[in-house]
Amino acid sequence: MEEERLKSLRAEALAELAKAQTSQEVEAVRIKYLGRKGLLTGILKGVKELPAELRPIVGRLANEIKRELESRIKDRLSDLKEKEASIGPGLDITLPGRPWPIGHLHPITQVMEEICEVFVRLGFSIERGPEVELDYYNFEALNIPKDHPARDMQATFYISESVLLRTHTSPIQIRAMERRRPPLRIIAPGKVYRCDSDVTHTPMFHQVEGLMVDREVSFADLKGVLTYFVHQIFGPQTGVRFRPSFFPFTEPSAEIDIQCVMCGGKGCRVCGHTGWLEVLGAGMVHPNVFASVGYDSEEWTGFAFGLGVERIAMLKYGIDDIRLFFENNWRFLEQF
Ligand SMILES: [Zn+2]
Repeated sequence: MEEERLKSLRAEALAELAKAQTSQEVEAVRIKYLGRKGLLTGILKGVKELPAELRPIVGRLANEIKRELESRIKDRLSDLKEKEASIGPGLDITLPGRPWPIGHLHPITQVMEEICEVFVRLGFSIERGPEVELDYYNFEALNIPKDHPARDMQATFYISESVLLRTHTSPIQIRAMERRRPPLRIIAPGKVYRCDSDVTHTPMFHQVEGLMVDREVSFADLKGVLTYFVHQIFGPQTGVRFRPSFFPFTEPSAEIDIQCVMCGGKGCRVCGHTGWLEVLGAGMVHPNVFASVGYDSEEWTGFAFGLGVERIAMLKYGIDDIRLFFENNWRFLEQF
């Protein structure tokens, strides 16, 4: 009786072992028959309960089968290891796929598009112009004649005496006004160039310039539009302040500060402990600028403004070195 059971157990175990295709499956067979609660282990434990005359026979047979199984398992494992090593890791279709790396827009492009969208919502249209520009459009027509001290404010890359890399996107305003009659609402995004390099300056950077011309455009319109812009970009709770300033192409002129985004206006290293950060330059278009494009400044008034895209991006994301934008370190770029 016990002998029959042992023989069929042996046959089952060997059949299962033959079917096992991986070391895990072999291990499962071992546990099933030889483990602490294994079937064969159970019979071996029960030998002492058997009648005295059966004990030696069953005991011997069970031990023989145990040794045989142990040795077959060992052989099967070494066969499988060899096979697994020769075919390498198997195809596991449950593994997640490899992610396909997808790029995204550069943070400067993202911020530039965000800025443009705010003004497009207000009815401004986007204008472009050449980066290699005539001195006339970059300076003369903007009320900055030769020898004007304001030219020193912008370290210019000259290509020849009358051709240069534009130092601001303001020449686009002149080109647009030459082509079109008021009313006019434009923004001019683009690259500009100045011979300057440190933690807050790069020789090439991006500006967005804006211009609105119509009958009875006032400084109140300027304040309204730019306050709306700041609240759209930095959040509706951001404090805004207008300070008198000077630009040759606007009169009166103002610089626009926002409440420091780092300290909330309490004063910190970033804002020089003033609680304020300059983000925009603006003013009412100077009559001399209108004169250079043939607009009658008795009939038309307007305001213009300009901002640096890198500066806005640095404040928005808390970045303290402008050069990070241009080093193309993907660990920096992928954060946006
Ligand atoms: Zn601060």
